[in-house]
Amino acid sequence: MALIVQKYGGTSVGNPERILNVARRVIATRDAGNRVVVVVSAMSGVTDSLIKLAKEVSPNPAEREMDVLLSTGEQTTIALTAMAINALGAKAVSLTGAQAGIITDEVHTKARISDLSPGQIHTALEGGNIVIVAGFQGETSDGEITTLGRGGSDLTAIAIAAAIKADLCQIFTDVDGVYTCDPRLVPTARKIEEICYDEMLEMASSGSKVMQSRSVEFAKKFGVIFEVRSSFNQNPGTLVKEETQNMENVVVRGISVEKNQAKVTVTNVPDRPGTAAKIFTTLATTGIIIDMIVQNVSTAGTTDISFTLNRDELPKAQAALQGAIREIGAKELLAMDGIAKLSVVGIGMRSHSGVAAKLFEALSGAGINIQMISTSEIKTAVIIDETKIAEAANVVHEAFGLGAGA
Ligand code: ASP
Ligand code: MG
Repeated sequence: MALIVQKYGGTSVGNPERILNVARRVIATRDAGNRVVVVVSAMSGVTDSLIKLAKEVSPNPAEREMDVLLSTGEQTTIALTAMAINALGAKAVSLTGAQAGIITDEVHTKARISDLSPGQIHTALEGGNIVIVAGFQGETSDGEITTLGRGGSDLTAIAIAAAIKADLCQIFTDVDGVYTCDPRLVPTARKIEEICYDEMLEMASSGSKVMQSRSVEFAKKFGVIFEVRSSFNQNPGTLVKEETQNMENVVVRGISVEKNQAKVTVTNVPDRPGTAAKIFTTLATTGIIIDMIVQNVSTAGTTDISFTLNRDELPKAQAALQGAIREIGAKELLAMDGIAKLSVVGIGMRSHSGVAAKLFEALSGAGINIQMISTSEIKTAVIIDETKIAEAANVVHEAFGLGAGA
């Protein structure tokens, strides 16, 4: 008898019919001879509308109260899912994050799990129940309700799978798994059968948001193997696990695309210690997340520094930097949006050369100009014009032989 953790995301429990669909799938898993713990998200759109409601009564709601509010989304779903399972004739019991033993730090709205004591989960399982746990929430050691950051139900599922030593952890979502590229952009994109944690993290941080990054980091740390698959069909999904030797044979596992980027260039930055520090600490204190950074060769004692960020953060960055630019004696701030990032990702890059050359050649063949380049051990990324992103994704996908017929 296997112990299985299944997580169903917001769209999978988006309405009563879908909750009944989940209930039937869970019962089928139990009837196949397994013990099942189910983690559910809030019904799709619920967390967003709760946030909107909060903003309607207060411009700046206390984070403690946000957590009390947002945790109700998942609490609704656990009760409904348990009711649906009971109505179909099987035994289920719902548990809040706190009841499931999820202890977190005190950082409201993005708490980290510090401990997990699954006593009540085990008791409920021993009583012959299917156990339904609220994702995304926990409590501090003082009993305050906390939430784990957007997308945090993934983390709940992975953490529970680690704590109860589950044989299998399945993340059910509205896509069939992780693809070699977004199939809406690249029609020949294929589902990836197996991917390692580091590749999954790079894909997620470069735009392929199938799962919350923190939950993948947690899975890596505790060696939780999990499968990402669809709740709307029976297709096998993508297995995410430690890297194996033969994974290195594939040079590029996938391509990830991130639109809505912007580029800022600070010109004529005096070339002396402390100027870059000033620019980026200023940005850091406002909480703006910076992606690529490029500094030019300096001529006549000054240099240009460019960086990219999410387009929505551009006005904030521009405002934040005005003072810093005057202070360090730089000339001006040039901002540009309408750019996108394309990244090729694969652990095989560590042992194969020529990945960057092949990427640049594919783009040049399509007449696409590269504006910025960055690399890591398992990723090569370029910034290009946003209007060219679909074409770029297709030619690069083809160049690395990732397509369906490959
Ligand atoms: N309901 C939360 C959110 O929308 C958590 C989750 O769905 O994983 O972010
Ligand atoms: Mg979600």
